[in-house]
Amino acid sequence: MRPSHSTTRHQSRATQRYLNTGCALTILAIIAIVTFLLAREHASAERDAARAANNIVQLINADVQRNVDLYDMSLEGLIEASQHPDYQRMPNSLRHRMLFNGIITGPYRGDILWLGPQGDIVADSRAYPPRKGNFSDRPSFQRLRDHPDAGLVISDPFQDRIGDLGWCISFARRISSPTGEFLGVASGALRLAYFAELFKGLAIGKDSSVNLISEQGLFLAREPELGGQNLIGQDFSQRPNFVRIVREGSGSFVGISSLDHKERLYIFAKAGKLPLIVIVALSTDEVYAPWRRTAIVVGIATALLCMALLWLCLMMGRELRRRLSAERELATLAATDSLTGLANRRSLDRALRTEWARSQRNGKPLSVLMIDVDHFKAFNERHGHAGGDEALRRVARVIDGCVRRPADLSARYGGEEFMVVLAETDINGALIIAESIRNAIERQAPFGDDEQAVTVSIGVGTRRSRSGTRLEDLLAAADTALYQAKDSGRNQVGFCEKAA
Ligand code: GH3
Ligand code: MG
Ligand code: MG
Repeated sequence: MRPSHSTTRHQSRATQRYLNTGCALTILAIIAIVTFLLAREHASAERDAARAANNIVQLINADVQRNVDLYDMSLEGLIEASQHPDYQRMPNSLRHRMLFNGIITGPYRGDILWLGPQGDIVADSRAYPPRKGNFSDRPSFQRLRDHPDAGLVISDPFQDRIGDLGWCISFARRISSPTGEFLGVASGALRLAYFAELFKGLAIGKDSSVNLISEQGLFLAREPELGGQNLIGQDFSQRPNFVRIVREGSGSFVGISSLDHKERLYIFAKAGKLPLIVIVALSTDEVYAPWRRTAIVVGIATALLCMALLWLCLMMGRELRRRLSAERELATLAATDSLTGLANRRSLDRALRTEWARSQRNGKPLSVLMIDVDHFKAFNERHGHAGGDEALRRVARVIDGCVRRPADLSARYGGEEFMVVLAETDINGALIIAESIRNAIERQAPFGDDEQAVTVSIGVGTRRSRSGTRLEDLLAAADTALYQAKDSGRNQVGFCEKAA
């Protein structure tokens, strides 16, 4: 039996497994860390964009509130002037100047009107004599008429009906007599174009927009204008994004725009105290563009790193396998007799010690066969050393063929001598195997022009269970038995009773 290396193979497989597992875990860890960092970056990009947009909304709110305050001051001035004791005594032209003296005008400020108790225009900041018009149908007028304590009433958006101001909202206050009687309404209009102009000054992305929508869902302003589409006055109240915006009041979410079907990050809040909602819609493409660039670079770098790691692992695995196979080959060479291919003397000694120790532990018998080729000196002289070597190889093959159990070992002891170690085999079993070897060699075809085949003499030594002998005694017994076989005429099996 040739030497085996199953332990080395097992270790090699285990090492390879550790290497593969380590490599896979490292790659997974790298991917997990990179994914975590990118997800965090993604969230922080959204947070930053929302914060910037929120600042825009706050800026708009502050500006709107300032305007509302200015309107209120103008209305209060008008009411105060209208109730001044000297007012009734003034000529009409002076009355106009007195009423509208304190008002602050601007390109987006509409007219300030004094409406009488029936809703007719009594005084008009734009024209003297005042333009004709009746506003008793306006909800804000009716509210002020019916509720003395309504304070400043802000109207829903409406289209200017007496001038060319377009879409407006109005701020109005009740004018009451000292006894609380309804004398009319002081009302000022703000053009929604003001918002469009306000939005123009804000720096937002190319594909993003700032929008103004009334709480009822009327679209009032957008910056930049959506190419070719006039959205002003359109009803958005049924659009899902708007429904959500009205429901939440202020905040942010990501949704698909119903206008261009692109994904947007919506940040929204009410414009001051007005019934208007400012919506900043940022293109997610723009919001995440820097993150996407980073993700691509980091992703490629990670993929390259993982591939390099994988390649390194494959290389290491291959190198490991190459080394282990070289080691196995070397180990086989170191344990094998080069002429016959059987185990060499070194492996034989090791196997003897191992099997001897095992036999002592488990108390089972151990047998050895000492095999010596008969008259080999003469054979060598007849056939030369090359012929002798060939004969030794044939003998080795036959011996190896007769030893079949995995634990058994056939080895070249030296010169033309061989040894077979038979684990857990008693004398009867050993004699049977010895005889089968002797017989098989004798039945080989004669070498060259020899008349007879090569023969061997075999000495059998057996350690019986718990006999208290040493390994040397067992080998000496086999040796003695071999000499007995030689002495008895060769080509036979000898057994030394005494020594074993
Ligand atoms: P016996 O029957 O008593 O064993 O006689 P023998 O001639 O076989 O014994 P001896 O010990 O006198 O001779 C052994 C011979 O085996 C001597 C040597 O030339 C030969 N021999 C030993 N090793 C080798 C080898 O590796 N190759 C060859 N060709 N011959 C070897
Ligand atoms: Mg010999
Ligand atoms: Mg011999």
